[in-house]
Amino acid sequence: MAHVNEHYRSLPAGYLFPEIGRRVRAYQQAHPDAKLIRLGIGDVVLPLVPAVIEALHRAVDELATPEGFKGYAPDQGYDFLLDAIQKHDYRTRGVEIAGDEIFVSDGSKQDSGNIQEIFGLDCKVLVSDPVYPVYVDTNVMAGRAGKADAAGRHAGILYLAANEANGFAPDPPAERADVAYLCSPNNPTGSVLDKARLERWVAWARKHDAVLIFDAAYDAYIGDPTLPRSIYEIEGARACAIEMRSFSKRAGFTGLRCAYTVVPRECTGTTAAGERVPLRELWARRMSTKFNGVPYLVQRAAEAVLLPEGRKQADEQVAFYRENARRLGQGLTAAGFRVFGGVHAPYLWVRTAGGLSSWDFFDRLLAEAHVVATPGAGFGPAGEGFFRLSAFNSRENIEEALARIQRVFGRR
Ligand SMILES: *Cc1c(COP(=O)(O)O)cnc(C)c1O
Repeated sequence: MAHVNEHYRSLPAGYLFPEIGRRVRAYQQAHPDAKLIRLGIGDVVLPLVPAVIEALHRAVDELATPEGFKGYAPDQGYDFLLDAIQKHDYRTRGVEIAGDEIFVSDGSKQDSGNIQEIFGLDCKVLVSDPVYPVYVDTNVMAGRAGKADAAGRHAGILYLAANEANGFAPDPPAERADVAYLCSPNNPTGSVLDKARLERWVAWARKHDAVLIFDAAYDAYIGDPTLPRSIYEIEGARACAIEMRSFSKRAGFTGLRCAYTVVPRECTGTTAAGERVPLRELWARRMSTKFNGVPYLVQRAAEAVLLPEGRKQADEQVAFYRENARRLGQGLTAAGFRVFGGVHAPYLWVRTAGGLSSWDFFDRLLAEAHVVATPGAGFGPAGEGFFRLSAFNSRENIEEALARIQRVFGRR
């Protein structure tokens, strides 16, 4: 008899985005003429930049020749990409990362979901609430989280409320945990951790011998050069932090798929016997066992994003989305909404109108403005009373969505 993994039964019943999809489909079927604007799921809309397309074409032609053909990629990525990452993502910020500390992968969603495998099942996990659901759900699947209570909180996970009082960027708690997930710039709240706050997190991790999982999928959206882009800009972080970055939101790679994870040599965990083990070795073992590398074509495309021409073009796309976010923020504020985020992130985190619940507001926005948002409650109990809007859309759709929202909810 094939018993199922019972831990899957502890997962929240409906994953957020399928439920949104179900409600949107039902509405569209009942109102076929309604022109919906989707500001819900955070997926990019602009095509790949010319430098990336050229790199892809070149790589395709190379593969067609006996000398240029490539089979399996090196375990951790091709040297040309590792070098470009070291140079452009780290050395420019005064950070030295060795090539063998970088693991190129096909996505930060996978990496942030898989990283928990290298930790013991007895590890106490810390997340913020609201949270990117992947961090929690993958720990639930592994059996680290236990059953959820009526509010949807799992007994084995420590939740830190991100709210207006702490600028949606909570400080470390007084209590200990073993593995803490930090996402900055944040999905869903659009908040960003500044240097002082990151220093407090690193100090907390060092004090409790904890590991920080730093998800910087949105680092390209940081507009202020004094804000850290990498956690390794903080002294002592090499000993306690794993960092993840992605080409998805930075250069439109959500379909092409490329990301990387950095595990510094100094970052260790402990065995039951008390022996220190470099986490890098565990992650290397995990990747070589379960992953066979990112396609050559895609690694060449990612390299192009880091070279001057591609970087300039990708930065223009990011600037375009940031301008969308700025307009959304300004327009919603003018309409009387309380708006957070959207400055160093493509997401706006907004209080619902009239004290409505997240899902009630979602339904109202859909029915009256024909705009699809993401209900804040879908990211955790502390997200109740908020909704998330994504700036990943055309300028025209952003302006049209704003006009509709202002028409429905007025300029209060
Ligand atoms: C979009 C996103 C990612 C990136 O995922 P990919 O798998 O690289 O496309 C990672 N973390 C968060 C919080 C995200 O929103």
